Amino acid sequence: MLIVQKYGGTSVANIERIKAVAERVSKTVKEGHKVVVVVSAMAGETDKLINLAHEVCPNPAEREMDLLLSSGERVTSALTAMALQTLGHKAIALTGRQMGIITDAVHTKAKIEKIIATRAVKALEQGYIVVVAGFQGITEDEDVTTLGRGGSDLTAVAIAAALNADLCEIYTDVDGVFTADPNIVPEAKKLDKISYEEMLELASLGAKVLQTRSVEFAMKYNVPVIVRSSFNYNPGTLVTKEDKEMEKVVVSGIAHDKNQAKITIVKVPDKPGIAAKLFRTIADSNIIVDMIVQNISSDGKATDISFTVPKTDAKKALDITEKLCKELGAEKVLLNEGIAKVSIVGVGMRTHSGVAAQMFEALANHGINIMAISTSEIKISCLIDAKYTELAVRVLHDTFKLGEQ
Ligand code: ADP
Ligand code: ASP
Ligand code: MG
Repeated sequence: MLIVQKYGGTSVANIERIKAVAERVSKTVKEGHKVVVVVSAMAGETDKLINLAHEVCPNPAEREMDLLLSSGERVTSALTAMALQTLGHKAIALTGRQMGIITDAVHTKAKIEKIIATRAVKALEQGYIVVVAGFQGITEDEDVTTLGRGGSDLTAVAIAAALNADLCEIYTDVDGVFTADPNIVPEAKKLDKISYEEMLELASLGAKVLQTRSVEFAMKYNVPVIVRSSFNYNPGTLVTKEDKEMEKVVVSGIAHDKNQAKITIVKVPDKPGIAAKLFRTIADSNIIVDMIVQNISSDGKATDISFTVPKTDAKKALDITEKLCKELGAEKVLLNEGIAKVSIVGVGMRTHSGVAAQMFEALANHGINIMAISTSEIKISCLIDAKYTELAVRVLHDTFKLGEQ
């Protein structure tokens, strides 16, 4: 088989761990498989680099930021290849560019456009283990880009799709995908399998065990993904196509996200074209808006519009909205960074009623106020005060009896 194995930050956190990864890859090769290894930067390294940039400059240029951040993964890819060579294997480390990962030019969150894998394919044929620096690509103009936080997952899945690999294994610091973040809910249960759709919702709602875009990619190209621990040999969670069994479970998982901020534009005139203008301007700055709430105006003249954006884009979105505020004839703009989104996800919701009511009652019974709600066919999300996040996740985990499956 051709297997892509991705090792996250904690799995390559130090030399000991890198040697352990090399042993694991070596074992897979000895079982007769061809392996492409994708590595993240050492745990904490990307944050360290971001902090360095901010020490030099309050608002670093995104192009240079990408060049800086890509270095973390280069370090681990070279060290991992060296560790494999020490074990007697033929191994070659490749940067994103050498792997032929071509992206668009949206720095810090670039999208993969294509992968020209000629060099990797040749190396595999020649018996090399290919070790790829995750999280990075190159534009047509040869500028280095990065794929958004957690982007090494995407590198792995995209390479698996491009090479038509039999399996993509995501090695991390937990045993698989759980019913809730096991670091917050100790009773959370590991799932044996989960559908692409549910995983996509969980990831986009904050379960960082897989990067959202990597799941989108896996779903689109039908890449079988297994999430498992690099610290043991437990079987992990298979992310795959939905089956009949999965529909019986109403709620499969709970996600939370503290990385959002809420912007409210107060007393904006209630007339056609206002929301269009506001959200067009924000979209043109490549900021992703998540929840939107527009109150119905009581006097027919002015209303409040609230929306959420990633915290990292909050200042940019605030600046844009403040500029528009005068133009739109609104009163003022407010920013609240102390919010969190808690969500329940499950394909079974399509066929069960009363799930939303149950969620709202559970939160209400614990005095947790809901600021905004959004739903899709298979998820319900509530925006709450960030200080209640852990409580809300635990309460919902209990309410939907996820610890008992
Ligand atoms: P890596 O560095 O290996 O990419 P991440 O830190 O990105 O690892 O993702 C793993 C973490 O995801 C876990 O340590 C866990 O705290 C968190 N997590 C959040 N939600 C879930 C969930 N539903 N199942 C498993 N892990 C989760
Ligand atoms: N090192 C990058 C990050 O911390 C990418 C990754 O780990 O997947 O976001
Ligand atoms: Mg990750």
